[in-house]
Amino acid sequence: MRPIRICLEYIISINMLSSKCKLFAFVYYLHLVYNSLDMSTDFKQLLRGYKLKATPGRVRLLAFLSNAKKPMSIKEISKAVGSKTLDQATVYRTLESFKALGLVKQVDFQKDHAYYEMSDSDHHHLVCKNCGRVEDFHGCNSESLIKHALKQSKHFSSVKEHSLELFGLCKVCNN
Ligand SMILES: [Zn+2]
Ligand SMILES: [Zn+2]
Repeated sequence: MRPIRICLEYIISINMLSSKCKLFAFVYYLHLVYNSLDMSTDFKQLLRGYKLKATPGRVRLLAFLSNAKKPMSIKEISKAVGSKTLDQATVYRTLESFKALGLVKQVDFQKDHAYYEMSDSDHHHLVCKNCGRVEDFHGCNSESLIKHALKQSKHFSSVKEHSLELFGLCKVCNN
């Protein structure tokens, strides 16, 4: 869903295309956005699957993280989904409980605050040390790395999860 939306946003943004074509892309884009709003039923089911009450706050939080294009900080999440009943401390507690259940994962960007994203696929991040730009990448060869690590280890017999962030400079900052 997300790649199609990004692609449509791109089509709408180019000037060369005829307005008819853009209108078509725009209507289809609205259709996708509308459907993603209606995804709240999916999140309710997801929460119930984890034996959690599907409160509006929890649903909003999951919907926001699912649509986010990059890992988000607690501040950003609170700003987007927060309310009187869902203050920053509650957002934090909710995220931590989602993390414990494996619904959400925490990403370490070597900054003083935590970032969170949905843990729905095995992907990792390239992070610009200068401007903070974040890009996903897939394929980290974790199986062979884990085998290699366990072979060397004296005290460990298994690895349950992994995280990998690569830090460097984006093309803009490198010039
Ligand atoms: Zn950069
Ligand atoms: Zn991986």
